[in-house]
Amino acid sequence: MSLRMNSLLIHGGVDGDETTGAVTVPVYQTSTYKQDGLGQTRGWEYSRTGNPTRDALEKLIADLEQGSYGFAFASGLAAINTVLSLFKAGDRLVISDNIYGGTFRILDNVFRNFGITYRIVDTSDLKAVEEAIDDEVKAVYIESPSNPLLTVTDIEAVAGIAHRAGRLLIVDNTFLTPYLQRPLALGADIVIHSGTKYLGGHSDTVSGLAAVKDKELADRLYYLQNAIGGVLGPWDSFLMIRGIKTLGVRMDRHVENAEKIARWLDGSGYADRVYFPGLESDPGYEVQTRQADGPGAMISFVLSEQYDYREFFRQLKLVTLAESLGGVESLVCHPATMTHAAIPADIRRKAGIADELIRLSVGIEDADDLIADLEQAIRASKKEK
Ligand SMILES: *Cc1c(COP(=O)(O)O)cnc(C)c1O
Repeated sequence: MSLRMNSLLIHGGVDGDETTGAVTVPVYQTSTYKQDGLGQTRGWEYSRTGNPTRDALEKLIADLEQGSYGFAFASGLAAINTVLSLFKAGDRLVISDNIYGGTFRILDNVFRNFGITYRIVDTSDLKAVEEAIDDEVKAVYIESPSNPLLTVTDIEAVAGIAHRAGRLLIVDNTFLTPYLQRPLALGADIVIHSGTKYLGGHSDTVSGLAAVKDKELADRLYYLQNAIGGVLGPWDSFLMIRGIKTLGVRMDRHVENAEKIARWLDGSGYADRVYFPGLESDPGYEVQTRQADGPGAMISFVLSEQYDYREFFRQLKLVTLAESLGGVESLVCHPATMTHAAIPADIRRKAGIADELIRLSVGIEDADDLIADLEQAIRASKKEK
């Protein structure tokens, strides 16, 4: 029976435990498995290679992303590390001009040492993507909406450009999750997640996920996952499955709150710029509405000049100043010194990431309480004349 998203979230992957009838997949907290004779396993041999709890999560993310194969890693960056290990010295990637700081860091300070290079492009500009693909480029790597400027890239169009040139498209879908956007269905080859964010959803687990459709690509990724070894443990796999069950109800509320807050902020006169692809005035609005089932719940903004953003952070009472995003509680961060500090200032500014930029991860609290807190903190941050 083919299930719709809200049922898949709860019954996708492996539904319960065959042997005992347990309704939830148990935590198989074991490193190894008894073999009945030489070469006679019961399908499991060592937990880096495979673990039933992790396997249930891997099948679940594959189902949710409309892929065929899923992979779970110890963090989003462990997933990214493994995917980037598909490439070799001399290869180059085209990357979006604003992406997660850690993704930039691993490319710039780790993979570049192995001869894998990158070219930064505004991937919302399709002509620029097309022009950037030269002989060395083997893949295009994007986030949509991007981190932290929420720039929307047309995934289907970029997939077309990449595929016509025989290249791969990799999409980091952390900000929207498969509940709102399914990049593989739009033509991407590999989808990546920091499961730490919305999928886990409760700011209590660090994890990473990947999903693909193609069997050959899956075989290569599985080989690398086992060879590199950055796998997710059984307990964290259990927490991820548990988090994903409520993804639908959480995302609905996240988006509802974010739309309300973005509209309020945009009309308040407190902010010079509001970045949110759910606002009709946003340059990404049209593509976002076409390719996703909602704008997500990340909002970035720059306060008007009369407000001191440092003081704003200090004055917040309900919204927490912290790294990360996508949890039930609202978090705010300062990309220039926190999530994107690993990107050199000149590259950061060139990409439009202002030092004054504030990034808000809208939680599922009462939206009016959140607005009240933001408003009192903005007012209290007014500069003295
Ligand atoms: C957090 C994040 C990552 C990295 O994931 P970790 O789980 O922190 O390793 C990658 N991409 C995006 C968009 C993120 O927000």
